[in-house]
Amino acid sequence: MTARVLVVDDVPANVKLLEARLSAEYFDVATASNGAEALAACERAECDIVLLDVMMPDMDGFEVCRRLKNNPATHHIPVVMVTALDQPSDRVAGLEAGADDFLTKPVSDIALIARVRSLTRLKMMTDELRMRAVTSREIGIESPEREAVAETGRHGRILIVDDRRASYDRLANMLSAEHTVDIEPDPNGALFRSAEGDYELMIVSLGLENFDGLRLCSQLRSLDRTRSLPILAVCETDEGAKLMRGLEIGINDYLMRPIDKNEMLARVRTQIKKKRYTERLRDNVQLSIEAAITDGLTGLHNRRYMESHLSTLVEQAAARAKPLAVLVLDIDYFKSINDTYGHDAGDDVLREFAIRVRKSIRGIDLACRYGGEEFVIVMPETDMAVATTVAERLRRRIALDAFPVEQGKRSIEVTISIGIAALENADDNAANILKRADQALYRAKRDGRNRVVADAA
Ligand code: GH3
Ligand code: MG
Ligand code: MG
Repeated sequence: MTARVLVVDDVPANVKLLEARLSAEYFDVATASNGAEALAACERAECDIVLLDVMMPDMDGFEVCRRLKNNPATHHIPVVMVTALDQPSDRVAGLEAGADDFLTKPVSDIALIARVRSLTRLKMMTDELRMRAVTSREIGIESPEREAVAETGRHGRILIVDDRRASYDRLANMLSAEHTVDIEPDPNGALFRSAEGDYELMIVSLGLENFDGLRLCSQLRSLDRTRSLPILAVCETDEGAKLMRGLEIGINDYLMRPIDKNEMLARVRTQIKKKRYTERLRDNVQLSIEAAITDGLTGLHNRRYMESHLSTLVEQAAARAKPLAVLVLDIDYFKSINDTYGHDAGDDVLREFAIRVRKSIRGIDLACRYGGEEFVIVMPETDMAVATTVAERLRRRIALDAFPVEQGKRSIEVTISIGIAALENADDNAANILKRADQALYRAKRDGRNRVVADAA
């Protein structure tokens, strides 16, 4: 997929120059000649990355960057500041404004393409997560963008990998006021600690005495547990070629010695912010997946999940000639509980019921709310006799102790009826078993409720 780059500069010649180089690398290029145009293009989601000139009339690049990064709608678009000034203070100002990186004019081709590639690659990946997270917003999970805008990138947990004492002491001193810093002089130890520890950033010196720092970076990228851990490389000014290899391998950012403290702090914060943002996106996607298969009131699985899962369990059991039982449970006269005590009390009963169900079954059993006050429990590796014992125990557990409702102010007698069916032969299927369990339940209701009836095979 081609990334679309927005080039923003008030000088047409500068725009033309960058446009030509990026087009030659098959990037799609859009242009803007001032801040307002750039902001509008980003709001319309017309680009994957912004190359932003610093010195522009009306609104300078820092201000444009700040606005992009403070807006939840555009916060995730990577911004590279393009500056004629090569002063650390300007770099820091850009990073403080939230820029992801900067390039110095005249812009070197390699740096330009390497930066744009690595930042757009990262964006494409987070876009995928963002898209899925959008659905979670519809079910009321907090938006990760809003939190990301407030994130400071401070109080990070950092591992420095460097075997020269003077060098790592200096790095650690600069960072320890804002972050928790550990040092590991041995690259093999570093690999182990990064996989085991809960770090948010690795700082790797490329000039290790007895080890190739790039090899460590590439190992970090190839392991599952460290793949998304950001790496900030530290190198000498004459290590440009090594650095380019590093950017290809997937290091996220770099610092050249002598290190400017403020620039380092700003870059570290940026990496930690990004890491936390991606993590939030991931959690968010995870939550929305869970929400999609969970019943909100009881926390049990919902019907959709049960239906897709039951077929799999039945097929597995049939293929391995293992027993499997299905219980369909229905609360007796539930409508009158609602009518007498109110709908909220009815909800309390459903919640308490789910708690008692959970206590009565094993970890591998699948309990779900099938609809209103009807539940299904699937029990793998369980025959009819055992299932009947479990059902009977659960029925008693419900009938024996009244259900507390309205924060314990009241208690209600509740009973349930249960129908059971079991897998009969290799040709049996999920729909048939459920149907037979349902028929057994119907008989339990007809015969007076508060009872367990097994399907007579
Ligand atoms: P039976 O013994 O034959 O099962 O009678 P019943 O009253 O339990 O069954 P019926 O199907 O007539 O009524 C079920 C009631 O459950 C009707 C519906 O309003 C109520 N209900 C369904 N979902 C919920 C819910 O989430 N919360 C509450 N409080 N009530 C619910
Ligand atoms: Mg009922
Ligand atoms: Mg009912």
